[in-house]
Amino acid sequence: MALSEFELIERYFTGIGTSRDDVILAVGDDTALVAPQTGRHLALSLDTLVAGVHFPVDAPAETVGYKSLAVNLSDLAAMAAEPAWLLLALTLPQADPDWLERFAGGLAALANEAGMALVGGDISRGQALTVTVQVAGYADRPLRRDGARPGDGLYVSGTLGDAALGLQLWQGGQREGSDAHSLIERLHRPSPRIALAQALADLANAAIDVSDGLLADAAHLAERSAVAVVIEPHRLPLSSALRRSASAPQATTLALTGGDDYELCLSLPLDQEGAAKALARQAGVILTRIGRVENGCGVRLISTTGETLTYARHGYNHFPVSSG
Ligand code: ADP
Ligand code: MG
Repeated sequence: MALSEFELIERYFTGIGTSRDDVILAVGDDTALVAPQTGRHLALSLDTLVAGVHFPVDAPAETVGYKSLAVNLSDLAAMAAEPAWLLLALTLPQADPDWLERFAGGLAALANEAGMALVGGDISRGQALTVTVQVAGYADRPLRRDGARPGDGLYVSGTLGDAALGLQLWQGGQREGSDAHSLIERLHRPSPRIALAQALADLANAAIDVSDGLLADAAHLAERSAVAVVIEPHRLPLSSALRRSASAPQATTLALTGGDDYELCLSLPLDQEGAAKALARQAGVILTRIGRVENGCGVRLISTTGETLTYARHGYNHFPVSSG
């Protein structure tokens, strides 16, 4: 490494994000010191992204920086939390100044947008490029997974399946054209739904972010809430880029099972739908009812005529149970 570890931290990771009054000590001492407001609940989470597993090895550096924070912000959004601070742990095969500068720029862009300050971290050399971001914020009216009630409607923000097709296009080298661009952008730069979640915190009964595919994540919501979730695939919100780029069945499968959407799936009383949609519009996000919550367990898919449908593939699982 041409630069020492300390020079790298000083040059690329000092002063990232907004300067916040509640940060007493940021990067440079043995720990960060923050002054949380009394009486508020802290929401803490972290996610690790490994090159070749969570993002393509050839993903542009700035998108790796952006996405490593975005996936964490999506978890904060799913709790209707307000972002405050983050920590960053980096494992790098080598310290390439150009890569680091662009990575830090991508991270800083989203940290600024979210009003967060980078207060510390760690950096080490290792075989696979690995990025861990820890986030902390306030969750005063947390939207948990376990609050869905029979009779609720089930909703998702934005559109589903774009990132999954974006990944296929990126990996297949089909990166030209405006549809490919927008799908790949959804893969590299997901939009954490922080503002939407805060707007809906008082209306919704439960929420989860869709990171591993709608079917898999809706199943988590159903299990934690001890209810059944019924999804009507014909209602799934599909972007026009996805509809132009995939057959109808392929688009539906991607929307149900593809990963990396980072949209929110919310359960809220049906009679609040109008109010919820108006708040979503104000937050600049579409909100679509995709099904409902019933007594029972698990996730069921039904057709326009009410017949039960089956799908073989569920969301991504890092440690699938082998059948043998
Ligand atoms: P220690 O040896 O005490 O763990 P480090 O040398 O790892 O300290 O880090 C020195 C300071 O730099 C600490 O304040 C740490 O939080 C910060 N830091 C280290 N790596 C990063 C990083 N990638 N991003 C932000 N801050 C970092
Ligand atoms: Mg350290």
